[in-house]
Amino acid sequence: MKALLVIDMLNDFIDEDGALSVGPQGKAIINIIKEKISEFRKNEYPIIFICDNHEKNDKEFEMFAPHCIAGTAGAKIISDLDVKDVDKVISKRRYSAFFGTDLDLYLRENNIDEIFLTGVCTNICVLYTAADARNLAYKVSIYKDAVASFDSTAHDFALKEAKNTLGCNII
Ligand SMILES: [Zn+2]
Repeated sequence: MKALLVIDMLNDFIDEDGALSVGPQGKAIINIIKEKISEFRKNEYPIIFICDNHEKNDKEFEMFAPHCIAGTAGAKIISDLDVKDVDKVISKRRYSAFFGTDLDLYLRENNIDEIFLTGVCTNICVLYTAADARNLAYKVSIYKDAVASFDSTAHDFALKEAKNTLGCNII
């Protein structure tokens, strides 16, 4: 069984005025992600929204400006994307969607062995989620036109690393 992961498509990353905006690259993938969501819905494959959700004084803020603080508008999924009750929404506090979350359990309970990644940032949360998924022996595909980063060199490197070192399909 397949599932679609929509990673960190949240106001603080995608809005131009967001606390840690990815910039125009983030906006540019919205329509493709919408298409993927409808495609997976049509086939009745699960859609999993992965959402950065930090404590007020999260350790991560020693490296990055405060963003996606629990309960704030910045931590909400962008309104362009349609979240249904049947979708799974997972909050995370670190880069990987697997770290300290029930994602692995959810995938196993639903017999999902293949995940398709979309969202931001290619070289951070997408890459480290892909790495953990591969360590757990999931098949991983990354839609290259549905992931983005503020740093285009890092974006390209991450896709190469995902393909050559992690064995992801870049499609
Ligand atoms: Zn974060």
